[in-house]
Amino acid sequence: MHLKTPLLNYINGKWCPSQATELLDVVNPATAQSLTQVPLSLKSDVDAAAVAAAAAFTSWRTTPPTARVQYLFKLKYLLEENLDELSRTITMECGKTFAESKAELERAIENVEVACGIPMLMQGYNLEDIARGIDEIMIRQPVGVTAIIAPFNFPGMIPFWFLPYAIACGNTSIIKPSEKVPLTMAKIFQLLEATGLPQGVVNLVHGAKEVVDAILEHPTIRAISFVGSSPIAHYVYSKGAAYGKRMQCQGGAKNPLIVLPDADMEMTTRIAADSAFGCAGQRCLAASLAVTVGEARHSFTNAIASSAQNRIVGYGLDSGVEMGPVITPESKYRIEGLIAQGIDEGAKLLIDGRNTKISGYEEGNFIRPTILENVNPNSIVAQTEIFGPVLSLMHLDTIEDAIALVNSGKWGNMACLFTRSGAAARQFRYEAEAGNIGINIGVAAPMAFFPFSGWKDSFYGDLHGQGRDAVEFFTQTKVVVERWPKDWSRQF
Ligand code: NAD
Repeated sequence: MHLKTPLLNYINGKWCPSQATELLDVVNPATAQSLTQVPLSLKSDVDAAAVAAAAAFTSWRTTPPTARVQYLFKLKYLLEENLDELSRTITMECGKTFAESKAELERAIENVEVACGIPMLMQGYNLEDIARGIDEIMIRQPVGVTAIIAPFNFPGMIPFWFLPYAIACGNTSIIKPSEKVPLTMAKIFQLLEATGLPQGVVNLVHGAKEVVDAILEHPTIRAISFVGSSPIAHYVYSKGAAYGKRMQCQGGAKNPLIVLPDADMEMTTRIAADSAFGCAGQRCLAASLAVTVGEARHSFTNAIASSAQNRIVGYGLDSGVEMGPVITPESKYRIEGLIAQGIDEGAKLLIDGRNTKISGYEEGNFIRPTILENVNPNSIVAQTEIFGPVLSLMHLDTIEDAIALVNSGKWGNMACLFTRSGAAARQFRYEAEAGNIGINIGVAAPMAFFPFSGWKDSFYGDLHGQGRDAVEFFTQTKVVVERWPKDWSRQF
């Protein structure tokens, strides 16, 4: 798949240059080489996309759902056929390993598969004789023009929490990928084009804040899906809601993982290390705090330390590599600063991943897995989303203390418990304040047919991405109450 430099927008079924005057380099975080340039599109580019999407909506919404999903079936096969190339692209622009990139795209494809069930999922319901001779029907209709604003860390998957459902339900859509990783979506749009989707149904506008603000203010755009950090999620949610739009905004996280003394320690440490250091910790479901309870402390600490030390760090396209770089030099600098701050705040540095140089990739943004011990729950490092391969260890005496710690945080994306006790697991599932709960699971990522939840400052809105929530978000309900004065019904 060949792409022009600078990248083009895709509006009304055509690849077109942005009106932008400013271009950003898209840089491979492992090699520091520029891959392409992305335009910081303008309000006028969003206007053009919104006009195209609104024009396409008129006939797209009347296309039968069974016909709409045929494009998604085609997309599924095209994504599968191009899985390796797309995975390489994700690794090159985002840094994660090739295996992680493939796993991400498989999750995207699952969402396409679920959305292919729209002819059933989108059905309403009805009841005859709500009064004598009167029937009532609930119909789901599409909302209109929708927009999706994505973060950098899952360039292939996250837009698919929304896009397949949006278009299967009869809406048209505008996607703005992260300006740090725009290549993956540009290539996926080549596949969307190859499905033969009518022009204007899907539109791609590259850019940053100006594009987001234009989307939030645009009178034609009715619903917006956002995923990113909590401050921006809050900003987007508040502004979009003030403009009367339907909003779903997923934010950041600080995910705790609790280890009870009866946990299977070998399994727990393996899973905890994957959660904390997979994708270099740049996952909204990464474990960031590991809290041992009672006697779990020593065995867990020793095992997680050796697991962190042995993780193979390097370029995600090289074989055997288990962890790639973080996204930018600024991010590396910020993460290393937070590690230093943790030490200043009294934490003990158990494993130090700073000042990492990988042979052959000396310019890459590498940090090895890092572990801080005895972290104070009130310290900045314990309260900040680090978004890097840094795990903070804490110790508490009881599961009640651990649940209180989980619930004291401002985020509520995920909380995990490791135990063999059914009673402890139920207590945790019942009491922990987080939208995604893992029991002996370290990355409790919901499958496509469940909502990707999130509570507190990890989510602003009502309906989440994926599954039935997505169908509800991308449809508006209409209720019809009918009486037909036919001869046979006069008796009523
Ligand atoms: P980000 O908030 O910096 O950017 C997200 C999007 O917002 C991008 O498209 C960006 O262009 C845009 N944006 C950035 N600054 C803006 C501004 N001032 N005004 C308007 N738009 C702006 O997030 P990121 O660094 O790309 O992604 C990482 C964050 O996303 C982490 O906090 C992570 O936890 C979160 N995340 C959350 C989930 C979830 O499901 N809850 C999933 C993935 C990532």
